[in-house]
Amino acid sequence: MKQALLVINSGSSSVKFAAYDVARPDSALARIANGRIEGIGGKPRLLVWGQDGALLEDSRISVSADPVLGPEEAFEALFDWLGRHAAGRTLLAVGHRVVHGGERFARPARVTPEILAQLDGFTPLAPLHQPHNLSAIRAIASLLPELAQVACFDTEFHATQPWVAQACALPRHITEAGVKRYGFHGLSYEYIASVLPGHLGAAANGRVVVAHLGNGASLCAMQDRRSVASTMGFTALDGLMMGTRCGSLDPGVVLYLMSGLGMSVQAVEKLLYEQSGLLGVSGISGDMRTVEASDTPEARQAIELYVYRVGQQLGSLAAPLGGLDALVFTAGIGENSASLRRRVCEDAAWLGVALDEDANQAQASGPRCISTPGSRVAVWVIPTNEELMIARHTQAVLQGRGAHDWRADGM
Ligand code: AMP
Repeated sequence: MKQALLVINSGSSSVKFAAYDVARPDSALARIANGRIEGIGGKPRLLVWGQDGALLEDSRISVSADPVLGPEEAFEALFDWLGRHAAGRTLLAVGHRVVHGGERFARPARVTPEILAQLDGFTPLAPLHQPHNLSAIRAIASLLPELAQVACFDTEFHATQPWVAQACALPRHITEAGVKRYGFHGLSYEYIASVLPGHLGAAANGRVVVAHLGNGASLCAMQDRRSVASTMGFTALDGLMMGTRCGSLDPGVVLYLMSGLGMSVQAVEKLLYEQSGLLGVSGISGDMRTVEASDTPEARQAIELYVYRVGQQLGSLAAPLGGLDALVFTAGIGENSASLRRRVCEDAAWLGVALDEDANQAQASGPRCISTPGSRVAVWVIPTNEELMIARHTQAVLQGRGAHDWRADGM
């Protein structure tokens, strides 16, 4: 019987997933399907695409009379679909993206009730993501208690940073309580680091900054393909301006919001995580496509500020690297917005970046070089693949226990 792995990336109202065949004898991973469940907590839909990108399923989920369905019912529908379509496969495990692993988890971990309780403790550090990551694990554990689940952390890749990059200049007892810069988007950076040599050759081990520009956004400075610094810190709020998050902010603003404007902790949290960034400045949307399509002065300023912050923080990472050999764009905005890339590259000319505008504008979807042959800094667009990274980690953690069979016929 074929063996398979399922990868889950669970957010507040949607879950992204991907299923992989584990080929024997070389254990290579081949994606067999991927998809999303949208509208969890309301009227969820299941969307599934096959290996070749063809849409296999687009349907409303209704497992009970109740029209408002939570994560457990959503996963029940997903497992039901997989059971009907992933014929003759044994599901070995589910790998999850878990945003915060704190200081305790420097490696992916097989989830136990004790580990789940420890991961709950990091929820205040990642309120937008951690509860949803963990509720997916809980929902699957209650549906299939025998199935192995592996937590893969967005913080892990940054564990190689020197202490100066991780430290906050706070009293020692605060640092010792775990208040330090962890960094995020680690699974994305780890994937990019794994494919860099194939694209950049020897320069892959040089001074590289990867710009993960999606709804969440951060930069990671790498040397020898290891993280040496990143723009995200203790939480995923720090650093770049994002879709709805503010990025770097004078901590005095937070004090003023509470003591001067009388805002509660909850209201400040909502403001900084959900109402700021592109959404807050444009007043229109946190989605870059929508902001780019608008011609209001506020939308133009939102993009101007976004680009300014990327340039400013690119400089702040070039400093510890002592220069720059390569710049890599990835994630939704980094992979798709040629105009954003052009503006960032124009501002980075002082670092030796020379963009080939034709290559930048070319309609392409795979990894590609977009700098001129004479550019001192190689500029690349490389699509990220966090799901594959999670599948690789899950496979490595597995010891073959807790398998669950997809017994039904289909696909
Ligand atoms: P992600 O979180 O990686 O899925 O990225 C989501 C972000 O990518 C959203 O802000 C989208 O608007 C943005 N995005 C996706 N496609 C494009 C595009 N063609 N042009 C500009 N932004 C895009």
